[in-house]
Amino acid sequence: MSGDCIFCKIANAQIPSKKIYEDEEVIAFHDIHPNAPVHFLIVPKLHIESLISCESQHQALLGKLLLLAPKLAKEQGLAGFRTMINTGHDGGQEVFHIHLHVFGGSAKLPKT
Ligand code: 5GP
Ligand code: ZN
Repeated sequence: MSGDCIFCKIANAQIPSKKIYEDEEVIAFHDIHPNAPVHFLIVPKLHIESLISCESQHQALLGKLLLLAPKLAKEQGLAGFRTMINTGHDGGQEVFHIHLHVFGGSAKLPKT
């Protein structure tokens, strides 16, 4: 838990979210400003700032986030989806608690 971190607060239920999944290590919820018809975030409860901060001890947790993406996407009715991890200011990261974006629900997502 990091004092001022919005995703730590969501993980601790201190602020509400449209939650779609939770276990002891991970929470997933809809993005508050969706960029696709379905846009949710998969977030470890452990406060890790970004992908740059990850080390080998986080390998299983990172794999878990990725493996949850197709499971949760299917539950959201998505036949396909796009994943994204913005990393660092230069990578467009705004919330400095690592998270995996999952986008879908358009007939076909545009190329980036
Ligand atoms: P980043 O740019 O860091 O990869 O993405 C942060 C994402 O978190 C943005 O898409 C933003 O809309 C979302 N977000 C920021 N604050 C909140 C919040 O309080 N609740 C939810 N559900 N999403 C948030
Ligand atoms: Zn945090």
